[in-house]
Order: sequence, then C-alpha cells, then structure tokens
Amino acid sequence: MTGKRNVVVVGAGVVGLTTALTLLRRGTYDVTVVSKHMPGDYNIEYTSPWAGANWWPVSSAGTREQVWDEKTFHELWRLAKDVPAAGVEVRNSLIYRRKKDENTPIIEWSGNLLLDDPWFKNLVPDFRKLRKDEIPKTFESGTSFKSVCINTAVYLPYLVSQCLELGATIKRATVKHICEAAGLHASGIKADVVVNCTGLMARSLGGVMDEKVIAARGQIVVVRNEAPAMINVSGTEDGLEETTYIMMRPAGGGTVIGGSYQKHNYESQADPNMTQRIMRRAIEICPELVKPGQGVEGLDIIRTYAGLRPLRIGGVRLEKENIEGVEVVHNYGAGGFGYQASYGMAEDAACLVDNATHIKAKL
Ligand code: FAD
Repeated sequence: MTGKRNVVVVGAGVVGLTTALTLLRRGTYDVTVVSKHMPGDYNIEYTSPWAGANWWPVSSAGTREQVWDEKTFHELWRLAKDVPAAGVEVRNSLIYRRKKDENTPIIEWSGNLLLDDPWFKNLVPDFRKLRKDEIPKTFESGTSFKSVCINTAVYLPYLVSQCLELGATIKRATVKHICEAAGLHASGIKADVVVNCTGLMARSLGGVMDEKVIAARGQIVVVRNEAPAMINVSGTEDGLEETTYIMMRPAGGGTVIGGSYQKHNYESQADPNMTQRIMRRAIEICPELVKPGQGVEGLDIIRTYAGLRPLRIGGVRLEKENIEGVEVVHNYGAGGFGYQASYGMAEDAACLVDNATHIKAKL
C-alpha cells in the first residue's frame, strides 16, 4: 500500500502524458497510463506525433483557453531555457496578415494569433508590429515575437521518461469502454479515477461516444531545408481551408511546412497537389528556404503526411462524470492547440481528479 490514490490515464498523446505528469508531480497519485498508441508510433488515430509543434496562441482574451496558453507558455519557455533534453527551443515568429482574409476557417481557427494587438503581447519577449518593408508584398500588416518550437519526436518520449521517473506505469491496451480502464491499474486494484485523454477517438469510445469531436485535418511537408524564423499567414489564394506556416523543429527534426485546416476531413493520405501548393507558397513567403533562384525543386523532402486535429465543437471537454459507478475526468478536444495549452489543461484536469478523490494538492 502506497497510501496514494490510483489513477488510470487513458491516452499517451501530449494531453494524456502531460496530465499524467501533472498528477505525478502532486505526489499523491499512483498513475498508470494506458494507451492504444505510444510515442514512436505514427497512426492517423494518434494526433500528437504529427504536430508542428509550437506555441502560437489562438485563444481569446478572458477565456479559460487564454489561462491554459499562458500557463503553458511559462513551462515551455522554462524547458527551452533550462532542459535541452526536452527538445524545445526558442524561435522568432513572423505573423503576416491580409485584410481580405475574413470569415474563413483559417481565421476562425487562428484569428487571435493574427491580431496586431493580441492579449499575449506582454507575455512573449520582443513583441512588436512589423514595418511595411519587413512584410511580403501580398500582406498588409504583421507582428514579430519570440516563442518556442517543439520537436515532437523528442518531446513525447521526454514526457514518457518524466512520468516513468516519477513512478508511473505505462502500458499498451485498447479500451472498448471507458469504464474498462478502471480495471487496468498496475496495482491490480480498481482505480479511484479514470482520466479520459483519448483525443479524436473520444468519438467512438464506449461510454463517451462524443459526436461533437471532429477532425480538422492538417497536411504537412517536412523538409531538410532550414528556415530563419517560424512564419504564419492569415490566408492564401488556394482555397479557404489552406494556409501557410513554417517552423524549424529543434534537434534536427526538420522544417515543418503547412498546411491546411479541413473540418470533417478524415483522409490520412497526403494529397499530392496540395503538397505542391504548400511547397510553392512556403518559398513565396520564405525564399531563404532554398538557394537563390530555386523553386520547389530546391526543397529536400523528408516526408509528407496528414494529421487530424481533435477539434471539439463548443470547446475542450474538461469535466467530471460518473459513468456506471466509475469516476471519470474528461480532458479531450484540444483541436490545434494541444501542445500550447497542455500544462493548463492538465492542471485543470488534475484539480478535477483532486476533487473526485478529495485529496488536496500538495503544491
Ligand atoms: P492524441 O495525440 O491523438 O492522443 C490520444 C491518445 O489516446 C493516443 O495515445 C491513443 O492511442 C489513445 N487512445 C484513443 N482511444 C483509445 C482507446 N480506446 N484505448 C486506449 N487508448 C486510446 N498543437 C499545438 O499546440 N501547436 C502546434 O503547432 C500544433 N500543430 C499541429 C499541426 C498538425 C498538422 C496537427 C494535426 C496538429 C497540430 N497541433 C498543434 C494540435 C495537437 O497536435 C493536438 O491538439 C494534440 O496532439 C492532441 O493531443 P491528444 O493527446 O488530445 O490526442
């Protein structure tokens, strides 16, 4: 007997692993992580490995999402400064906007990032408006600020190691019904709480079956070429669901070039025509990606792929529910912000677990 409460976290994406880590840091929980997919796997049902990823907040001022983003920024910035093994590095961001991009899926998704006067201007270092001569001629305004970029292939295993270090058990299993997870704690004793971090798969998980969770598909090209900064735009001439963003992952992770934001699209294979458009647009806004005079042939492709952002209509589900006698805390539906909001979401989920088990957090 450890005197700790038993928790099973279902899901080993960034949301599940960060939630497990947050619970373990309290010192009052014995945590087992149970998951169908693990870091190292690449599968369309498992979003986290496909992400860029960086911290570019899309939340509105005064919302719970803003609180999550802010909390997470501080932690990711600390990792970038103090923990090189985490695979997080500081990068400059360049954000370009055109007036004509209004009411598109891209603006609906990332409009708050594109504002000239966003809530996070006093949070991030070196925030400023760009001068006209610093902006590509097809855009009208823009901002620049420091943020972080994450190599997901390093960061997810880092989260696993941190959980193991603090005593977690991590095991492979597919649960058909969320209540099954209560019987999978490593102690063999029924878990006091199950935390549901199943992302997009919350759609089809027994006991949950949340139809509000849908895919927002993102297509990506990863190249060996280097980019001088992380760059994002408000829209393109290639359709309302396409956008352009560039970020060079730390630690040799390649440069990620996106992208798209296609709601209700579950296609796992990259569309070759879209791949060409993504590469052409990337060079237009960042010619430094290739040698002078080169076009897309100057890009050295590592791979092309698509990932499915677990978007939830109405927002992330972070709440407690008793399902057939099992205390369940839901933490899923992070859409395109699962990394940048991860520590904030995890803290709120951990508070719900505290509440469910009547354990007061040590910290
Ligand atoms: P997932 O990573 O999908 O994890 C779900 C876990 O649950 C998996 O381990 C799965 O195996 C497990 N699971 C599901 N069902 C079951 C079951 N029945 N039994 C057992 N286990 C189960 N976010 C950012 O913050 N910044 C970015 O720059 C960024 N860029 C992105 C770019 C792209 C192209 C995409 C696709 C996404 C991007 N995102 C970004 C979004 C981010 O990737 C997601 O919000 C995040 O990965 C969601 O994590 P998750 O843990 O909720 O889900």
